[in-house]
Amino acid sequence: MLQNRKILMLAGDGIGPEVMNEVKKVIAWMQSNKGIEFDIQEGLVGGASYDQQGTPLTNQTMEDALSSDAVLFGSVGGPKWDNVKREHRPEAGLLRLRKEMDLYANLRPASVFDALVQASTLKEEIISGLDLMIVRELTAGVYFGTPRGIEELEDGTKRAFDTETYTETEIVRVARVAFELSKKRSNRLHSVEKANVMESGVFWRDVVNQLHQTDYPEVELQHMYADNCAMQLVRNPKQFDVIVTSNLFGDILSDCAAMLTGSLGMLPSASLGDVNDSGQRKALYEPVHGSAPDIAGKQMANPIAMIMSYAMMLRYSFDLDAEATLVEQSVKNALSCGFRTADIMQENATEISTADMGVAIIEEISRLNQN
Ligand code: NAD
Repeated sequence: MLQNRKILMLAGDGIGPEVMNEVKKVIAWMQSNKGIEFDIQEGLVGGASYDQQGTPLTNQTMEDALSSDAVLFGSVGGPKWDNVKREHRPEAGLLRLRKEMDLYANLRPASVFDALVQASTLKEEIISGLDLMIVRELTAGVYFGTPRGIEELEDGTKRAFDTETYTETEIVRVARVAFELSKKRSNRLHSVEKANVMESGVFWRDVVNQLHQTDYPEVELQHMYADNCAMQLVRNPKQFDVIVTSNLFGDILSDCAAMLTGSLGMLPSASLGDVNDSGQRKALYEPVHGSAPDIAGKQMANPIAMIMSYAMMLRYSFDLDAEATLVEQSVKNALSCGFRTADIMQENATEISTADMGVAIIEEISRLNQN
């Protein structure tokens, strides 16, 4: 039993509560059958929190997040809150969580399930068996750098500017997460920047090289320019295992990698921060997709991204590798049995609801557990 392991569940808006319900089923199964018990707290975030509490994230919920071992997050947003002031918009709740938890490493796996290989826009032989992980720096770089702004020039025209900035500490901590991850996978890491044209790229490369030499000489490290990486991701994505990169390049490359897999409803993510005194890393797990207002409340949402985010939590926050693999394998099996939610529906498959996909996955978990 994992005593005192505290999870904060924030289901949020739109399809968030629907997909989170399916995770609750898996958690209940794990508790009854594997004795894996968490101290679970639930809270409001986003529009749901704004409607009841006038803010997308209360200070109390923020404190709860900071004192929990992991946060499981659904999704926020929707047209209902389009005219709400910027600081009260649903997204502000998620941004505050990321900022105050200092979640600097964003992990986005892109794996292709055999059963869904045809959902990708790329040829089967290019993406079949794909399993890569992009580690994106999330709290620094050009999205946060100063000075930034739009100013008027003497001739009356204007100019706009942003600043790409990285400290050694900011690069080392995210690169360390990527090196550690590589060690757990195939011991290969690509570090991606634009050292050919950017000072910050030269610096990024130097800092990663230094860390490699001192702490991770056993990992095979390669450097790649970001434009080449984008091209290689669609040309031959299986050459990659773990990629580490800055906030801006990671934003673009992770979306590109995501589309290799075919559907937004399948993609989990983890955002990690520093390890605290008791050895626990701050962490938030969430599906890549948003609140999908167009299908919310219709039991049409695919719960797999949320369930796979929970599996990432088992692996990265609680070292429960076997249980994470059990969940991931059960998802694969449910798909192989032909069960599909509407977003991934194919010919000759069986279309089922959000809740029934949860049931199908639980059935596979039970079956695999007996073998
Ligand atoms: P979205 O991801 O919500 O939806 C894009 C499309 O994908 C929609 O057609 C939707 O139906 C479909 N889709 C998404 N997830 C699905 C799932 N699990 N199963 C089946 N289909 C799925 O993106 P959007 O439409 O650009 O944004 C909608 C709202 O979500 C906006 O308010 C946006 O700000 C918010 N959003 C939130 C997050 C987050 O909470 N992290 C991320 C992205 C967007």
